[in-house]
Amino acid sequence: MKIVFATNNPNKIKEVQAQLPEHITLISLEDIGCTEAVPETQDTIKGNAIQKADYIKDHYGMDCFADDTGLEITALNGAPGVYSARYAGPQRNADDNMNLVLAELNQKAERSAQFKTVIAMHFRGELITFEGICEGKITKNKRGTDGFGYDPIFKPSGYKNTFAELSLAEKNRIGHRGKAVKKLVAYLNLH
Ligand code: IMP
Repeated sequence: MKIVFATNNPNKIKEVQAQLPEHITLISLEDIGCTEAVPETQDTIKGNAIQKADYIKDHYGMDCFADDTGLEITALNGAPGVYSARYAGPQRNADDNMNLVLAELNQKAERSAQFKTVIAMHFRGELITFEGICEGKITKNKRGTDGFGYDPIFKPSGYKNTFAELSLAEKNRIGHRGKAVKKLVAYLNLH
């Protein structure tokens, strides 16, 4: 079975590919000739995931799935949330984003946060969504070099290490995207 994963983020492709059974082959946006930016202009994570999946279905007529992820920080009333990618500005730079979060939480004892992923999938005429949440805390400093985005400042609950210090397999096992992908795989196995 072949399905389009609507992302240009090689880290996400690596994470998701590692969780899929052999009979599911991911097709990239490049493979289908989609080089334009896929719009994500909604004000919710779920809305953005659906918008991206709809775009591929409407323009390329293929079954596909798209994910959208946000980091929700309790002391910042859920920010950066749906604006996680461009939190520190339109340059969408991971270091700038992390530096801003660390500055805003400077001296704050309340550092709880969660990652939320929603995957939206068009499959055989249905649109289905899957959610994955990973709770944790924002560290005081960046730690680790693996992963991407906010991984160096997010320490999942029950762990001493940040996501950027954990293996891909471990991040997938306990992480937000991993949990959503598990639900997607279970769905595909039943249909
Ligand atoms: P998007 O889902 O690609 O729109 O990502 C939104 C923002 O969250 C971007 O700044 C990403 O770098 C960041 N992000 C998405 N997934 C992860 C993750 O698994 N770990 C850390 N940051 C992430």
